[in-house]
Amino acid sequence: MGKTYVVVAEARGGSLRQVTLEAIQAVSIVKQDGDSTAGVLIGSQITPLASELANYVDGQVYSIDHPDLEMYNPEAYLNVMKTVFEHVTPDVVVLGHTAQGRDLGPTIAAHMGAGQISDVTAIEKNGNDVLYTRPLYAGKAFEQKQFTGGTQVITVRPNNIDPAAGASSPAEIIELEYTPNGSLRSIVKDIVRKTSGKVDLTEAKIVVSGGRGVKSAEGFKPLEELANVLHGAVGASRAACDAGYCDYSMQIGQTGKVVTPEIYIACGISGAIQHLAGMSQSRIIIAINKDPEAPIFKVADYGIVGDLFEVVPLLTQEFRKV
Ligand code: FAD
Repeated sequence: MGKTYVVVAEARGGSLRQVTLEAIQAVSIVKQDGDSTAGVLIGSQITPLASELANYVDGQVYSIDHPDLEMYNPEAYLNVMKTVFEHVTPDVVVLGHTAQGRDLGPTIAAHMGAGQISDVTAIEKNGNDVLYTRPLYAGKAFEQKQFTGGTQVITVRPNNIDPAAGASSPAEIIELEYTPNGSLRSIVKDIVRKTSGKVDLTEAKIVVSGGRGVKSAEGFKPLEELANVLHGAVGASRAACDAGYCDYSMQIGQTGKVVTPEIYIACGISGAIQHLAGMSQSRIIIAINKDPEAPIFKVADYGIVGDLFEVVPLLTQEFRKV
């Protein structure tokens, strides 16, 4: 009897989040003949997205569509998952390591008495064994973990696993009813989104980030222009957020967001360990700093020693020509 993988999808702004396709790909890496995959999509007015999800999953897609499920609520979503588990018994549940996945993953694991491995950045198959790599000590080290049995829950870090290309045949869509439960202990009234731009910071392929060296809110304008030209997002160090130059939703690091873009451009950021925790896994790191001794140059693939207010507009000007 094969294993059953259940991927809990996430949508934002009317589209499936890329991390959902990465979670499906994570399953493809470990899946063997006879195993099956189911997708779960929870939300409001999600019918078109359920069809889209079905193109990536080869088993079933469970779609639970109700106005009360528009915003994530741990209790309500767990109740939905309990209904899903009446139809499919998972061996492995896979979620994105997002704000929602970080909350719902352990909630499901606790409900099922499952083991959990969080923040998975790579998956390796060694015969019948599966090794999950995850960061430790704010990214200073990595460990490889393996489940020894039982039901498993994993969350995958965005932008680390290639997105799934699509299933050979679309999944069957099964719509499940949701009955609102009046006994929820909390309800979400509103989600106030604070974004640094059009591109989601955690999913951006290119991040232009500013630190204390940017000196003011006004100083972030050249960084925004560069990010716009590169179709990227703007991030920041904690020092820049603390100084009021930008919103905390832009903070990258140990106590901020973790990003793993293709290119990370650090402008006026010294490279403190707490900042590196949020960006050191970026594929290419470019540092612009006027201090040649700045620690950021130790992790940078390319370094420009210079004044960011001169270098950044020059880069924008050149990339505009491409
Ligand atoms: P600085 O260290 O002051 O560096 C500014 C840099 O700008 C300098 O290297 C300078 O040479 C350069 N510079 C100045 N002017 C220019 C110019 N015109 N052109 C080019 N370069 C210029 N920090 C985070 O970022 N994220 C976190 O999540 C985080 N969490 C933390 C958690 C804890 C528990 C603690 C204790 C700290 C945390 N910090 C975090 C803070 C961290 O330790 C550093 O203080 C912070 O990252 C420094 O930010 P910075 O590099 O912007 O500022």
